[in-house]
Amino acid sequence: MSNQIEYERNKAGSKISKIVVDRDLCIGAQSCLAPGGTTYEIDDENKVVVKDANAVEDADLIASAQACPTKAISLYDKDGQLVD
Ligand code: SF4
Repeated sequence: MSNQIEYERNKAGSKISKIVVDRDLCIGAQSCLAPGGTTYEIDDENKVVVKDANAVEDADLIASAQACPTKAISLYDKDGQLVD
């Protein structure tokens, strides 16, 4: 069973409404941290958590998801469609 956590995003002008992190997939590689700015932090289980879903613009958020080697981060629009 997957271990996904959803974070709502309500940044003005953003097409991304939700960030989903799959904790089973996250290996703590931290590749997402640089493009994601202050969006993420690593918890004491070496998994990424979202601390500010509205921290960065869409392009940087998309870059952070694409940077993840295990595709642990998924981004969705308000209709539930995957944004990539
Ligand atoms: S890049 Fe992926 S595996 Fe690495 S910390 Fe971020 S979400 Fe986890």
